[in-house]
Amino acid sequence: MADLKIGVLSCSGEECLGGTISRLATRKMLEELRPGQTVTLCLPLYLAGGEEERFFAKAFPVITVDGCSKCCAKRATEKYSGKVSDIVDVSEILGNDVALDKTVSTKDMTSQHMEMVDKVAKVICEKFDKIAENK
Ligand code: SF4
Repeated sequence: MADLKIGVLSCSGEECLGGTISRLATRKMLEELRPGQTVTLCLPLYLAGGEEERFFAKAFPVITVDGCSKCCAKRATEKYSGKVSDIVDVSEILGNDVALDKTVSTKDMTSQHMEMVDKVAKVICEKFDKIAENK
């Protein structure tokens, strides 16, 4: 179990707050919540990449983290690699008003924004642990 790795793949939404929160919550998984067990790729590399990147979702269970209901990360992963193990949609957790709000530069994030990141990261973590338990 300790050497199990799970992919967490965030959308690259630069246009709205949901995308920023997706990326920061994914980073939190990688650096703080499940370091060493979380693996990731940025979505543009995944889309532009070759065999090695496309192999990602075949090699690891993947949770996609999307900023809004368009679910770009999920759709791209399923198009190129196959079914994802679970999904997180920020708009379902924080509501459309927040997810589709105008983006905030990471340097201007407030403590309220960081609480939103924590809330999304907690949901990713729960899904992560559920997948790990069933492996
Ligand atoms: S899922 Fe939504 S926020 Fe993310 S890249 Fe797609 S349109 Fe943008």
